[in-house]
Amino acid sequence: MRTQFSPAQLLDPATREVEQILRKCVHCGFCNATCPTYTLKGDELDGPRGRIYLLKDMLENESRPDTKVVKHIDRCLSCLSCMTICPSGVDYMHLIDHGRDYIEKHHNRKLIDKLFRQILASILPSPNRFRWSLKLSRLAQPFINYLPRSMKAGLNLAQQSNLESGKQTFESTYPGESPIKGRIGLIPGCAQQVVANEINMASIRLLNRNGFDVELLAESECCAAIEHHLGKTSQALKRVRTNLKDWSSRLPQLDAIISNASGCGTMLKDYQHLLKGDDEFSTLASQVSNKTMDVCEFLVQHEFSINHNVLPEAFTVAYQNPCSMQHGQKINEQPTNLLKEFGFNTIGIPDAHLCCGSAGTYNILQSELATELGNKKAASIESTSADLIASGNLGCILQLRQYSDLPIMHTVQLLDWASGGPMPPELTDFASGEISEEKYS
Ligand code: SF4
Ligand code: SF4
Repeated sequence: MRTQFSPAQLLDPATREVEQILRKCVHCGFCNATCPTYTLKGDELDGPRGRIYLLKDMLENESRPDTKVVKHIDRCLSCLSCMTICPSGVDYMHLIDHGRDYIEKHHNRKLIDKLFRQILASILPSPNRFRWSLKLSRLAQPFINYLPRSMKAGLNLAQQSNLESGKQTFESTYPGESPIKGRIGLIPGCAQQVVANEINMASIRLLNRNGFDVELLAESECCAAIEHHLGKTSQALKRVRTNLKDWSSRLPQLDAIISNASGCGTMLKDYQHLLKGDDEFSTLASQVSNKTMDVCEFLVQHEFSINHNVLPEAFTVAYQNPCSMQHGQKINEQPTNLLKEFGFNTIGIPDAHLCCGSAGTYNILQSELATELGNKKAASIESTSADLIASGNLGCILQLRQYSDLPIMHTVQLLDWASGGPMPPELTDFASGEISEEKYS
């Protein structure tokens, strides 16, 4: 694609990067076929190629984005399915990141939208604020039908949360069983530690059982993905630098930084890109990115114990591969291979490349499209003979719980159970009702 940035514009490293990205696009349109919003809307401007043109025009002309441009950019899930299919290697992820940052700085959103986005960026990354807001949200439930669509979507999502799970306080270190193979740092996730801490505890048990000391990197509240995807770049970078400072003395002792929420993992792996020109933090950022691994990506490289007293083969698992995992981190077979090795039956999902509509705050801010995508994903899964759904990202788990009656849990909860941990609570409820005694052991 030909670009027309001026020499003065190209003095800015960020603009140079945008130009390099744009120049790779050959306008073939292959990406439209795998874009969830293009699939739903059938509008060129709701597909990646159209968005690339909108971004090019906006950034080249340094124009003030109008509501039409913002509407189509806001509708992008950042699912990155377009990057997986693109034959030219267009780095759409960093292009849309620049676009979102530019829109945040140059577009005047309606006051109510601006306020709501700021509230999300302030509350969600802080476990304490999030916990309190969830408690307060329960008071608002009787008035849910009188609230604006996005607030209603937020409250519906809050109903999927298990506040009891987040009451547990963390130890600083969880010692592994001997022989010790290494030491890892676990990111407990800002929202995850509040509403689904059982995922963290399952990860810790699984890693301990397999010989790893686990250190909690809990002093940092959030990886900054939420602010980053809302276009609040300076707020996000400030948080990234704080995280790096907090972790710097501990990094040398850690063999890996484990993320069990693929959205966070994708962000951590991108720290090196975000701070690549930063004299003070670039080295540290690269170290964090290079050490970050998804929990399944890490486990598949190690030997593990399996508990033969449970019968995981009684369950057919549909593994829903989150976009941030399959498109963002290019992790595809590892979680399913682990489930199989631990004894579960697995089954593929039709249209597995399509997003479930969770996408960070997307299911709150773009609830109409997110609902369509959630329903589509649930229907795809339910068209299989799956007994339950496993996923590698809390956002997808909470999203799918709204649209499917099948039990849904994190992959590590199943792996933990099959290697000596407790049965996941979702499975206990399910087993007592829907599944026959013979099938469940
Ligand atoms: S597939 Fe890649 S090269 Fe083709 S239009 Fe999409 S982004 Fe451009
Ligand atoms: S990131 Fe996803 S929603 Fe956005 S343009 Fe690419 S495929 Fe479409």
